[in-house]
Amino acid sequence: MGMIQATQIVNEERPIAGKTVSVSVVQRLRPPTRFQVALLGMQGLLQGMWLTLTYFWSPVEVVTREYPENRDSLKITERFRGNLRFKFPNEVAHQTHSALLEQIAQETQTHPEVAENWIRDEDDTRWYHNCTGCSKCEEACPNASIRILTRHGEILDDREIDRFVWRLDSCMFCNACVLACPWDAIEMTGGFENAVFDRRLLVYSLNRLAAPRINLIQDEQDPAVRARMIDWRSRYGGPIPLGGTGLPNLPAIGAPKVQECPVSHAGSTAVAP
Ligand code: SF4
Ligand code: SF4
Repeated sequence: MGMIQATQIVNEERPIAGKTVSVSVVQRLRPPTRFQVALLGMQGLLQGMWLTLTYFWSPVEVVTREYPENRDSLKITERFRGNLRFKFPNEVAHQTHSALLEQIAQETQTHPEVAENWIRDEDDTRWYHNCTGCSKCEEACPNASIRILTRHGEILDDREIDRFVWRLDSCMFCNACVLACPWDAIEMTGGFENAVFDRRLLVYSLNRLAAPRINLIQDEQDPAVRARMIDWRSRYGGPIPLGGTGLPNLPAIGAPKVQECPVSHAGSTAVAP
């Protein structure tokens, strides 16, 4: 679209203090008439309509994505950050999980993604983690969106994670927490379907296991002792300790509600207090 210029710059040679100096002079132009403005507006409108018409004739060039119809084929770039979650702690946990999914999928004759629903808690390696509860991520967060609650692990006589509370409602996805983690325990993912009707559902508990990090569990040979190292945190029940500051003291409405984390295999759960 043509631009209406209010000023123009003219370069001139001018004698200053006995010397000829090159200067740039800004000249104010005569303002356009209403007719000129209307003409230029019409030109821009026609250009836009022409582009729309060309898309009618060549739909291959259309770049608009039709969401949610294209949900299955939607491409999210790797850089996009929409959700914080615990990483699969190591290849062993990942392989165990994949093998378990395939086994259940075969037994139930379903797709592995559907089989996720049949995994029992005690077999679910998604919940193993590398988090030590060191709170570096909490310290790095500029928005106080993370609250790390630790407990004293009796078996190892050391500190371990009790609850990793993440407030999506105040997170600005800056990734500072991920970079600050010395144990590579958390990551940002591309899940973006986070909309809820009650903002209290935007407080997530990232961990389901109150336990030391996975390597320490795997180092223990005695299965009975290993089992004692792990405490399952209820996905549904109980008030979640809310982290962050300035959270309004909202009244509880009815029974506790739960919403599965929108990231398909993140394994985090949002719990309404
Ligand atoms: S991404 Fe940034 S704002 Fe969000 S929890 Fe991490 S450090 Fe805090
Ligand atoms: S996620 Fe990382 S930085 Fe945060 S508490 Fe766990 S180990 Fe520490």
